Amino acid sequence: VWKNCLTFIKDNIQPQAYKTWFEPIKSVKLTDNALSIQVPSKFFYEWLEEHYVKLLKVALTKELGENAKLVYVIRMENTYGNKQPYTESIPSSNRANMTPQELDVPVKNKNPELKNPFVIPGIRNIKIESQLNPNYSFDNFLEGDSNRLARSAGLAVANKPGGTSFNPLLIFGGVGLGKTHLAHSIGVEIKDKYPEKTVLYISAEKFTQQYIESVKKNTRNDFIHFYQLIDVLIIDDVQFFSGKSGTQDVFFHIFNHLHQNGKQVILTSDKAPVDMQDIEQRLLSRFKWGLSAELQSPDYETRISILKNRLYRDGVEMPDEIINCVAQNIKTNVRELEGAIISLIAQSSFNHKEVTLELAQQVVEKFVKNTKREVSIDYIQKVISEYFSMDVETLQSKTRKRHIVQARQLAMFFAKKYTKASLASIGSQIGKRDHATVLHACKTVDNLAETDKQFRKYIDDLNKKFAQ
Ligand code: ADP
Ligand code: MG
Repeated sequence: VWKNCLTFIKDNIQPQAYKTWFEPIKSVKLTDNALSIQVPSKFFYEWLEEHYVKLLKVALTKELGENAKLVYVIRMENTYGNKQPYTESIPSSNRANMTPQELDVPVKNKNPELKNPFVIPGIRNIKIESQLNPNYSFDNFLEGDSNRLARSAGLAVANKPGGTSFNPLLIFGGVGLGKTHLAHSIGVEIKDKYPEKTVLYISAEKFTQQYIESVKKNTRNDFIHFYQLIDVLIIDDVQFFSGKSGTQDVFFHIFNHLHQNGKQVILTSDKAPVDMQDIEQRLLSRFKWGLSAELQSPDYETRISILKNRLYRDGVEMPDEIINCVAQNIKTNVRELEGAIISLIAQSSFNHKEVTLELAQQVVEKFVKNTKREVSIDYIQKVISEYFSMDVETLQSKTRKRHIVQARQLAMFFAKKYTKASLASIGSQIGKRDHATVLHACKTVDNLAETDKQFRKYIDDLNKKFAQ
């Protein structure tokens, strides 16, 4: 019966899809009008149900008549490497309309071949290396107001992976603010506490490459199975998934599988979920299931302690006035903060001389200049306030006076255009508004640009100031 079904299915779908989704299936038994088939994983079953249920139904009713039923038998290992196989029977869902009464008979396997432990083709005996960087730990991830929530959520997750409501934990924030560092720290801590857990750190980019490769090599299944074996999956920079629907799709299924099985997922992104573009809604909604925690630019105190910690770890001493000078001038990005201090350390050791304040100022200036090209939200507000001869407080105020509202909307518009800040972050920096207000402002400016000549001129003038 199943053979006939397969012949029918083969004629009706792409050869590739057939190979991936139907060849691995084995028929297990047939009683009256119920056919049991064995699939390699729960995910596999879900995939069939989601994509091929109609086809299966047609094929089966052709063979067994209107009352045909389909029973899935899932064989998988409890954990990777566990030698005890187990069998589970899941009645075909009601959606499938093939099981009027829930069919819940556990299937006993008579087939001797099935007594062997289930083998995942191609990836058996592969030890999963966690790819974690042990240099990134909680110990050297210094705490401050800017990262307190994210850091403590990370610690909570590290203490009880999969056992908190922070699943997934999404860490977001601008470049160089510590997302990668914190993500590794969580993994390192988990490995420390739970050495038996399989932890994997991977960048979204590499995940995507692997996925594309697996499609090329017809090993998409292995790819999926591999990721389903992981207890703690850390994916860095998920904004990279934007616009890549195949990768999003496969990640969606992997995510569901892990989440349903109480596994922990940790993600980082340069944007909050509300600001992510070209990511499928169903994936965004999953991102929001757990906790999204932002890493913000560090405040002055945190900058000082990061610098001191860095110097301490390198065994270098430096006068306070120099540390202060660096911390005062480099504000937006921890990576640059470190870059500046490393450059100072290097110069002093090359030239065998003490770092002077003068040298520090030169180095800092160089760093600040390099980053000046990035227009900041503060700078935008300042320029726009000047342009309209008002001060920044007025621009940010709650007033509804038309020209002030317009100036404020322009500030939001340009902040969106020239900075990488999220809508939420733009809103909060321009007079504590929410992201919807910013979105509305941007639309209003777009509209006015087309209908209002005077307004068009404002935009052109200001554009010249920001575009370099
Ligand atoms: P992101 O992934 O957000 O771009 P990274 O995690 O690569 O940023 O961090 C950039 C650099 O700043 C790294 O060297 C990291 O160790 C350091 N860093 C970031 N935040 C902190 C912190 N709170 N304490 C100590 N070092 C930090
Ligand atoms: Mg990073």
